[in-house]
Amino acid sequence: MLSKIIEQEKIDHCAKWFDKAKRVVIVSHLSPDGDALGSSLGMLHVLHEMHKEVTVIVPNEYASFLSWMPAIKEVVLYNKYPDFSQQLIDAADVICCFDFNDLKRIGDLGKLVEASSARKLLVDHHLNPTDFCEIMISHPEISSTSELVFRLICRMGFYDLLSKEAAECIYTGMMTDMGSFTYNSNREDIYFIIGRLLKKGIDKDDIYRRVFNNYSENRIRLMGFMLYKKLKVYSDVHAALMTFSQEEQEQFNFIKGDAEGFVNLPLSVSGIRFSAFFREDKEQGMIKISLRSVGSFPCNQVAGTYFNGGGHLNASGGEFTGTLEEAVAQFEKALEAYTELLVAEE
Ligand code: 5GP
Ligand code: MN
Repeated sequence: MLSKIIEQEKIDHCAKWFDKAKRVVIVSHLSPDGDALGSSLGMLHVLHEMHKEVTVIVPNEYASFLSWMPAIKEVVLYNKYPDFSQQLIDAADVICCFDFNDLKRIGDLGKLVEASSARKLLVDHHLNPTDFCEIMISHPEISSTSELVFRLICRMGFYDLLSKEAAECIYTGMMTDMGSFTYNSNREDIYFIIGRLLKKGIDKDDIYRRVFNNYSENRIRLMGFMLYKKLKVYSDVHAALMTFSQEEQEQFNFIKGDAEGFVNLPLSVSGIRFSAFFREDKEQGMIKISLRSVGSFPCNQVAGTYFNGGGHLNASGGEFTGTLEEAVAQFEKALEAYTELLVAEE
């Protein structure tokens, strides 16, 4: 049996909404990842089974290694189809906000969601959600939104409506947000849920291959370049940094997703506990910051204090306005401020 995590009152409230709703829109965050799409598409499949009109809208493109996900072709990209997105949101009875804690995390799409009079449901696992939905299912102690969506589906009594396709989506979200079950993955419930997903017929080994062994030649060459030429190790403070300029992106015909997961690579070096990856984004006029840590080092605090961002204890991100050199200087300032914590024995 699964432990009950979501309050019964919220489950009943959601069930009532979904029962009454004709049209449902599910939205998720910028640069949607496996968990954003996994939780959204998992719910989409179940709502389809309930004969609802349901659409997933995301602010912008997802990485190509997720393009196999069942029903992903139905996902509407707001940056490509703003008018259609507006129509869908205007017509929605219920809007599900999955895997983000603040309307800022969905960019301009946030204004549409905010202005809508639809009922709004949040399901998320990021810290400190802002209060923008009537029902807030927020559980930062749970490692993926996909797990929360699975729990919600089951508790509403819809496990039987969960198809193999829905199970594949949920599994993808869980697997990617726990680094293939290498972090935040010690709760026993996780494996109970995976058992249930296997019962639905998923091939977890194949899903792993589709997500992680499906990269382009460009990406692996870029990875080689980054590790050989760009990795800067601050061994005194157990930290590492890689930067990726616009010029280098052109040189390697960079497309979105090619640098996915690079920020984790330095953590495989013995002693490194804090890693950063900075990518210049001229189009958006900023540097995108990704931070990762192991153990108790709070990389989300660094993201919040130095890079106008946030996230989880061990995986966070933010933005920096300025040049790459200035961003590096800012990072080094953070390293100085956090030296004591970084050198402390775990
Ligand atoms: P990634 O490095 O994969 O882009 O992001 C890792 C995590 O950091 C995300 O799941 C999210 O929780 C958080 N994050 C990334 N970028 C931002 C940002 O700009 N603002 C905030 N508040 N959190 C972010
Ligand atoms: Mn997530």
